[in-house]
Amino acid sequence: MTGTPVIVDVHPDATEVIAAAAAAAHPRETGGLLLGWWDAGHVVVRHAVEVPDPGATTNSWSRDEPQAQAALDAALDEHQHPWLGYVGDWHSHPAPCGASSQDVTSIRRASRQYTQPLVLLVHRADSTFDHVVAHRGCTRHATTPLPPRKEHSP
Ligand SMILES: [Zn+2]
Repeated sequence: MTGTPVIVDVHPDATEVIAAAAAAAHPRETGGLLLGWWDAGHVVVRHAVEVPDPGATTNSWSRDEPQAQAALDAALDEHQHPWLGYVGDWHSHPAPCGASSQDVTSIRRASRQYTQPLVLLVHRADSTFDHVVAHRGCTRHATTPLPPRKEHSP
């Protein structure tokens, strides 16, 4: 963990898409891409798209690259926002645990190919989010003012 904290602003549209996809895939994992932009120490996560993995299990989900690229192209085309681009990944954990060491390793590795920080959001079984920010191969200290959870009966 180095440098000043990166602030991860996650739009409720993104958390709703992730929560719905996680619920639909349960008890298997699912995941996808985060779309947004960078702005003065912030990563803005504006949209999330799901990239289904037919081989996902209760503790793994893999990103299929051609499918991920197609999902990214479709989302960019749909939203037509000049700042919008790939800012990271998300996946669900059907268990109440946050990002694994393997999760951290893979986002760190992916971040070497980008000049700006990448975000990994993990949706946990208790409907909370864990986040990891990696920049040029290193984990960065990050904070997120995630929107408050909706109160609903169990
Ligand atoms: Zn994971």
